Amino acid sequence: MTKGNGEDPKTGSRMERIQQGVRKRTLLAKKKVQSITKDDVKSYLLRNAFVLFTVVAVILGVILGFSLRSYKMSYREVKYFSFPGELLMRMLQMLVLPLIVSSLVTGIAALDSKASGKMGVRAVVYYMSTTIIAVLIGIIIVVIIHPGKGTKENMHREGKIVQVTAADAFLDLIRYAPLGILFLIAGKIVEMEDMGVIGGQLAMYTVTVIIGLLIHAVIVLPLLYFLITRKNPWVFIGGLIQALVTALGTSSSSATLPVTFKCLEEINGVDKRVTRFVLPVGATINMDGTALYEALAAIFIAQVNNFDLNFGQIITISITATAASIGAAGIPQAGLVTMVIVLTSVGLPTDDITLIIAVDWFLDRLRTTTNVLGDSIGAGIVEHLSRHELKNRDAEMGNSVIEENEMKKPYQLISQENESEKPLDSETKM
Ligand code: ASP
Repeated sequence: MTKGNGEDPKTGSRMERIQQGVRKRTLLAKKKVQSITKDDVKSYLLRNAFVLFTVVAVILGVILGFSLRSYKMSYREVKYFSFPGELLMRMLQMLVLPLIVSSLVTGIAALDSKASGKMGVRAVVYYMSTTIIAVLIGIIIVVIIHPGKGTKENMHREGKIVQVTAADAFLDLIRYAPLGILFLIAGKIVEMEDMGVIGGQLAMYTVTVIIGLLIHAVIVLPLLYFLITRKNPWVFIGGLIQALVTALGTSSSSATLPVTFKCLEEINGVDKRVTRFVLPVGATINMDGTALYEALAAIFIAQVNNFDLNFGQIITISITATAASIGAAGIPQAGLVTMVIVLTSVGLPTDDITLIIAVDWFLDRLRTTTNVLGDSIGAGIVEHLSRHELKNRDAEMGNSVIEENEMKKPYQLISQENESEKPLDSETKM
């Protein structure tokens, strides 16, 4: 039967029902999208509250530092002002040694000797190749930009030795508590020498170091990660923001280590057996930013001394800069100290380190951030390359878990039987 309009009533009502269903589903989907968006934003903010807080602390630190500069605080006052920041540094540093020892022990214990050997070789190959690439970038950039044009005579030298007072000893007593990156950064900016001295060659030198570090951190390392793992490097780097900002705030890759572990394991989901094995070693010996910086700074010092370096001397600088970066500890301005090795290797005056001290506190933050990025990307790459060994090990562990369960079975059966004989809780209560 058909309706007057020629429509079959059965088909018509079915069509209506289908249309209603579609409408309902669309409405539901819309509602869902709306609620997901709100929930998403909320949970995103909650999940990333600490990262956002750290970034805000850096921004506030910069603003506070610059606004307090006009008050011309004395050196001692600046030290008191940066005290909360120093507390944070000490607290992080306090964690480092136990963290390195325990993570290495658990990392190696979780792997068999073959797997840990292979993983170790991969990590060392990655460390060496990225460090050499960083040194080459440093050399090429400083030779191209040539920031050391002119003489060093009108350059500012810096260096100070300050007496320890009773107040310092008192502050030492209460260095246990957690306080912020905000004060670390603000304190450094207040303490910073007059910006006027950072003119000419030193400004060019700073820009050259920044360009070199950017090339390594934004192009080379992400590209390497992509080429090896075929995964999006920016998603991986996005998960590291908290560690990178902490490195920027503390200027210490060792002090950042607890945060790097957290970002890699909890956010990026890198296998703990890899991070625990690779990261402590990386934070100690793999310093791409420092290597790049040492080679670049040594050539800059040669340029301001009008000292022409031959090819052999440039090779010597590359080798010693690599060694000096391996030898540098993951603490603030350690690279400046090991640079003496690089300068002496080619007969450059070590006194001239004082020419670059004025900007080193700032460049140190950037190279530390690059160092932490290099270590973290290294962990990601080593995990990818070692995925088969990790899976095999998982399978072995899985078998042993099954075996263990098999062993437990008789006991479990007996206890289950006993359980079934027991009256139910509710029954007992009743
Ligand atoms: N501060 C750097 C680090 O901890 C080392 C350096 O001075 O270059 O990684």
